[in-house]
Amino acid sequence: MTQVTESGWLVVAGLGPGEEALVTQEVRDAIDAATDIVGYIPYVKRIAPRDGLVLHASDNRVEVDRATHALEMAAAGRRVVVVSSGDPGVFAMASAVFEALEAGPNDWLELDIRVLPGITAMLAAAAQIGAPLGHDFAAINLSDNLKPWSLIESRLRAAGEAGFAMAFYNPRSQSRPHQFAHALEILRAACGEDTLISFARDVTKPTQEITTVALKDARPEMADMRTMVIVGNRDTRAIGRHVYTPRYAEGSAP
Ligand code: SAH
Repeated sequence: MTQVTESGWLVVAGLGPGEEALVTQEVRDAIDAATDIVGYIPYVKRIAPRDGLVLHASDNRVEVDRATHALEMAAAGRRVVVVSSGDPGVFAMASAVFEALEAGPNDWLELDIRVLPGITAMLAAAAQIGAPLGHDFAAINLSDNLKPWSLIESRLRAAGEAGFAMAFYNPRSQSRPHQFAHALEILRAACGEDTLISFARDVTKPTQEITTVALKDARPEMADMRTMVIVGNRDTRAIGRHVYTPRYAEGSAP
């Protein structure tokens, strides 16, 4: 059995989409009080080094190993912050920490573990676009690393046919360049060709780019792994450079 000490803790924190002003105060306080920072290399790079703080940067694909290491350190009395971009509970480390906790020794259940929210890319992107998520919406991860592509297709179709706006994380990577083209075809059929789609790249960073087109004009190359894609519903409209979705559903206009 691992010895659990009084003073160790584990915080799973979201760093927001990139802009430092969007890191919450409680996340800053946790980082200031930490002895160890654990996370994927580019996120750990965002933490200023200081005496007494150990930075553990690792590759993206070892999430549960990284979470286990963080729990071991907290159990040994270290004050550990596991960092994610955006919100840690959205396609990120918080679930990996609980997965590692579930597989670990029972005494880890006594550890002080807290999840601190962050501004997820979807909300930061929506704010830059206007209010495309003003009515019901679905958030979908388009990566097939952790689920079969057939499940992604059926969820896209179901959400589009049900009239949900949609926010897509991990829309298109070099290892699967054709899938996003296929996703666009499904969306055109399920949502209609005139539905608006926005591509928000590097949101809140100096390199930010936002583009909105109708689904019929959307091309796969408009998205990459640094892009958040937001598809409106059939009522989503552009007014000047703002795109918004009315709060009311068709048939219930005030
Ligand atoms: N936990 C993160 C999401 C991790 S998945 C969050 O809550 O935001 C990684 C995906 O998030 C990327 O492929 C991209 O689709 C999106 N993303 C993260 N930061 C972004 C940013 N600044 N601009 C646009 N998309 C971003």
